[in-house]
Amino acid sequence: MRLTKRLAVGVALSIFSYQLFADTSVVSDEQKATAAQLMESALESDLGFDIVESLTTEIGPRLGGSEAEKRARDWGVKLGKKLGFDKVSIEEFTMPFWDRGHLHISLNTPYQQALYGTALGGAAPSEKSIQTEVVYFRDIHALSEVKPGELAGKIAFVDGDLLVKSQTGAGYGQANQRRRKGWQYAERGNARALVVRSVGSDSRRFPHTGMMSKDGDKWASIPVIAISNPDADHLRRLHNLGKPLSLTLHSESKWKGDVSSGNVILDLVGSEKPEEIVLIGGHLDSWDLGTGAVDDGAGIAITTAAAALISKLPKRPKRTIRVVMFGAEEVGLLGAFAYAKQHEDNLHNHVVATESDFGAQTIWQLVSNVNPEATLLIDEIAKVISPLGIVRGGSDVPGGGPDIIPLVEQGVPTIRLNQNGRDYFDLHHTPDDTLDKIDPDELAQNIAAYAATIYLIADSDVVLKK
Ligand SMILES: [Zn+2]
Repeated sequence: MRLTKRLAVGVALSIFSYQLFADTSVVSDEQKATAAQLMESALESDLGFDIVESLTTEIGPRLGGSEAEKRARDWGVKLGKKLGFDKVSIEEFTMPFWDRGHLHISLNTPYQQALYGTALGGAAPSEKSIQTEVVYFRDIHALSEVKPGELAGKIAFVDGDLLVKSQTGAGYGQANQRRRKGWQYAERGNARALVVRSVGSDSRRFPHTGMMSKDGDKWASIPVIAISNPDADHLRRLHNLGKPLSLTLHSESKWKGDVSSGNVILDLVGSEKPEEIVLIGGHLDSWDLGTGAVDDGAGIAITTAAAALISKLPKRPKRTIRVVMFGAEEVGLLGAFAYAKQHEDNLHNHVVATESDFGAQTIWQLVSNVNPEATLLIDEIAKVISPLGIVRGGSDVPGGGPDIIPLVEQGVPTIRLNQNGRDYFDLHHTPDDTLDKIDPDELAQNIAAYAATIYLIADSDVVLKK
C-alpha cells in the first residue's frame, strides 16, 4: 500500500492548497475540492480491482463474437445495475466470427523440436498437415520484395527484432507491420504458410496473437502463425549456421460466419445538460489465450469504477457520463464502428471521448486535443491530478484510444490519460495476460485520475470541440 499512502498524502495536501488560492475561471474551488475527494476515495477503494477480478475469473477469456463475450455483456449489464448507473443497455451488432482452433507447429529439419506458436486473427486453416522447407526473411522489408511465385510450396518465416521496452509503447506500430501485412507478401510469393516472430518485448516462450489487416475485402488464404521470441531467435541462429530448415505445421483456424456481438452502455445522466455526453470506456472482449486482465479488463475496471465513484456524489455532474464497454475491439474495432454508426446523429453532443486500453500501470501524463479555450480547462485538470504523479503533456495530441478512432473521424474531441506502457508488450495478446499482473495500487491511481478528470469535464460548461 506504499504507493497509495504516498499519493493519499499528496491529494490531502492539494485539498488544503485549494483553500489558499483564489478561484479560477474554468474550475471552481468547490469543484477542485470534490475532485480531490474523488481521488482520495479512489485510492482507498478496492472497487476497480474487484471488477477486473470478477470479469477475468467469472467470465475468463472472451474472444469477440464468442459465447464468452455474450456472457461478458450480461456480466456488464448486471454490474452496471448493481453499481447504480441510471441507464444500462446493450447495443447489438453483427460481425464475422474467427475461431482459433487447434495448432501444431514444430521444427522438422535439422531436428525435431516443438515450437510455441499461435494463429494470427483472420488466418486460414492448413486443411492437412504441411511439412516443407522454410525460407528465412530477416524482416518485413526483405519479405516485401518477394517476387510472384518465388515461395511456391514453401513456408516463409519473417523475423524481426524484440520490441524495445518504453513508457509510450513507441515502435509497436512499426514492428506490427509483419503481423498485419506479412501475409500479403507471402501470398504473392505463393507460400503455403507464413510464420512470423511475435510482436512483443518479452523473452518468454509465449506467442503473441493479434489481428491481421485485410487487403481490400480479402483475408489471408494461408495459415499465418506467430511464434515466441525465443523460438524466433532459435530459427535465426540455425539459419545463420547455414542449416536448411523445415517445419511441420497444421492449423485449424478459420472464419465461421456471422454472429452477434454488442456494446454495453452505462450512463450517469447529467443533472443540467443530460444530452451532452462525456464518453469513457474500455473494451470488453479479449484475446482468447489469457484472461484479458491487462488488455482490457483493466480499462473496463478503471472507467467503470471511476464513474461509479462519481455516482456516489450528492449530485450528478451537469453532463452525462457514459461508460462504453466496447465489444469486439481486438478483431477490428467492430464495436467502435458500430457505436459511431448507431450514434451518428448524436455525435455532435459527444463533448469528449477517451478510452483506457494500455494496461494497468500508473498514469504519468495527460494529453488533449480540444479547442484553445478548453485547453485551459485541461491545464487546470492537470494541476488537480498532479499529486497523483501525472504531468501535463501536449495539447494537440490526436488519439483517445483505439475504440475512439471512429469518433475522432467524426470530430469528437479527445483527451488521454497515458499509462506507463513499459511492461505492456511483455504480456500483450499472450497467455500471460492474467490478473496477477495487475498491481491494485497502480490500478487505484488510474481510477483516481479518471474520476477527477471526468468529473471536472462533466461538471463544466466549457465547450471542447475544435
Ligand atoms: Zn486492448
